[in-house]
Amino acid sequence: MLHFSYSCLFFCVNFFQEIVFTQFFSNDEVFRRRHWIVRAPSAGLCLSTPAGFNSADGGIVDDAATLSTGDIWYWRAEPIRIVVTGAAGQIAYSLLYMIARGEVFGIDQPLILHLLDIPPMAGVLEGVVMELNDCALPLLREVIPTTDPNMGFKDVSAAFLVGAMPRKEGMERKDLLSANVKIFKVQGQALDKVAKKDVKVLVVGNPANTNAFVCANYAPSIPRENFSAMTRLDQNRATAQIALKLGVSVSNVSNIIIWGNHSSTQYPDADHGKFFIEETQKSVSRAINDESYLRGAFVETVQKRGASVIAARKMSSAMSAAKAACDHMHDWWNGTAPGQFVSMGVFSDGSYNSPKNVIFSFPVEINNKKWKIVEGLTLNDFAKSKLKLTGEELQEERNEALSVLDASASNL
Ligand code: NAD
Repeated sequence: MLHFSYSCLFFCVNFFQEIVFTQFFSNDEVFRRRHWIVRAPSAGLCLSTPAGFNSADGGIVDDAATLSTGDIWYWRAEPIRIVVTGAAGQIAYSLLYMIARGEVFGIDQPLILHLLDIPPMAGVLEGVVMELNDCALPLLREVIPTTDPNMGFKDVSAAFLVGAMPRKEGMERKDLLSANVKIFKVQGQALDKVAKKDVKVLVVGNPANTNAFVCANYAPSIPRENFSAMTRLDQNRATAQIALKLGVSVSNVSNIIIWGNHSSTQYPDADHGKFFIEETQKSVSRAINDESYLRGAFVETVQKRGASVIAARKMSSAMSAAKAACDHMHDWWNGTAPGQFVSMGVFSDGSYNSPKNVIFSFPVEINNKKWKIVEGLTLNDFAKSKLKLTGEELQEERNEALSVLDASASNL
């Protein structure tokens, strides 16, 4: 009798989890979580008692077909390797903790973290390793600090490229670009040589779009679709502004778009935004009904938010940048919900009259770890002019980067 009630209980838990998880997570995530539960596969239902389950008893089952009814088993993932560059810096300090807690790759996905920085920061890296260990995070199997890109990128499944040369006083834009082009060339080459071929690369370090372009060009054996630049912080900022304006929770607002470059020419666009109120979906722009706000204060606030945070905090936005990097990679890994899209800097195919062959931020839908630019959105003349401006800036940046690379190649 007791056995029967446990079976019923587990069946209900399984059934409930399947419904909940199928609605909110991608197939991949459903698969991982569903199989974490103790169950006998040949029976299709869970028939073992919870008292018999102890996570320490389990092991990885290579072939579930060899199990018979009544066996206790659970699915446990192999650890994956994740690298964070600039690991001794501000953003990484928040980002590493969020990744290691399971917020990006799942709460049942063990991780080996690679921490890459430059030699002068090796001592700081040791401190970060100590803190990660002291967090006693169950998913974290190993932490590998290094200043060697070939060790940093070895066999990684995902790369957060946060480290970059910051702008110093008196530095010309071209000097900044030149320093970063060199960093991302080296990192592209190392990714090409030692990373997994399906590695997902997110560039956070600025100028993020052009750094991602350079990195991808030096990693020809990895598909170009696997390189992206972060505009998710801008998307989160824009979504938060809209939620405030509408007086709703940020989780009720979706489909706010960032077009173009992660710079002050980006175009935050709420025209296709939606929000839920009293279980009804509504249009953001119709509800706000204030074109001068949506084309004026809203756009400016988002474009200049980074500078406002620096002015107030005397330091750049690190916590929100780390959260955005997690959101970006989480959605790339797990997919977007039906009908919802997110913004990512990806190689342009010329959609929406954007220049080809630059990393341009578009609205994308993601399924099975593959993004697709959302097609068929209507753009008004104001939006078209903004996309043109940011596209021109990206072309200029790309051409400057290429001229730096040509010059350094001819100096060899
Ligand atoms: P930070 O100065 O605190 O840290 C940067 C770290 O990168 C340092 O530890 C530095 O030693 C390291 N680094 C430099 N060159 C490196 C290299 N070749 N290899 C590995 N590590 C290297 O800066 P932060 O606040 O963490 O910001 C990092 C970057 O992210 C900056 O470029 C910043 O402008 C950018 N950023 C981007 C966004 C975005 O939305 N895309 C948002 C915020 C910040």
